[in-house]
Amino acid sequence: MILIDGKGTAASIRMELKDSVEGHVLLGRRAPGLAVILVGDDAASQVYVRNKEKACADVGIVSFPHRLPATVSQADLVTLIRNLNADDAVDGILLQLPLPAGLNSHACLEAIDPQKDVDGFHPVNVGRMSLGLPGFAPCTPAGVMELLRRYGLSVAGKKAVVVGRSNIVGKPLSVLLSRPGEMGNATVVLCHSATPNLAEECRQADFLFLAMGRPCCITGDMVKPGAVIVDIGINRTETGLTGDADFASVKDKVAAITPVPGGVGPMTIAMLLKNTVQSWQSRMQL
Ligand code: NDP
Repeated sequence: MILIDGKGTAASIRMELKDSVEGHVLLGRRAPGLAVILVGDDAASQVYVRNKEKACADVGIVSFPHRLPATVSQADLVTLIRNLNADDAVDGILLQLPLPAGLNSHACLEAIDPQKDVDGFHPVNVGRMSLGLPGFAPCTPAGVMELLRRYGLSVAGKKAVVVGRSNIVGKPLSVLLSRPGEMGNATVVLCHSATPNLAEECRQADFLFLAMGRPCCITGDMVKPGAVIVDIGINRTETGLTGDADFASVKDKVAAITPVPGGVGPMTIAMLLKNTVQSWQSRMQL
């Protein structure tokens, strides 16, 4: 069984990005910039934002923090986003979700310039991804695809089952897996809470992608022998972090699996950095 090392892979990607940024900065070019907007005082969001800012600093991306009170108006938040759109030092804009009640996250995300939308949530980028055009793909599905690519795990011609259809994980992942091309070409089944027989669908999967947010829900009897499991779920339990797969019961059945923690999680931040550097390269015409 191969334990897919997302932590190590993400570290390699960060090193590659750091080398690329350093090379240009040494030649006198400005460093990439990421504006990070955090509204309110949600504890989990504060931790995520701190981790993202630290990861930026490690690869030489300058982060521009914007901490706003939960009472900020929609108009003021959109004005800030428009100002960042116009700021030449900013290559990417990250709006940490969820927003406090009363703020319209769709409207705020749509205010971000698609060329600076390094989270890949703007409808223009969602559309471009669906059409197979260049643009930013959401970081978690992009991280999953990068992990598969670096491990030489091709889904082409295989049956891929994705469990979970959120706009940020399951749905875009199903699009990327089914796209034509070397790293796509899977036959994809997208499952959700209204899927009648989840266990039977999972048993058909050569590749099983779990994005439910239900701790240890997928057990060994639901998995085809020799399958690859990519466990995107991150669930906080009394015994610590766990994925959506019951690791102990599936591990002897699978050919490869991502652990939780240390699997897909670190790849998500690596893709945010990669998208930011990509935006910088394209804006600086490097
Ligand atoms: P959502 O809650 O938005 O979506 C969960 C999806 O799972 C929904 O489509 C839901 O179906 C489906 N679902 C829930 N329970 C079942 C069930 N019993 N059977 C079948 N389908 C089910 O979550 P997210 O997509 O935002 O996140 C999913 C998981 O991934 C979470 O654990 C989250 O923490 C983790 N995550 C990890 C990231 C990483 O970096 N590794 C990044 C983002 C998220 P329905 O639509 O019908 O309600």
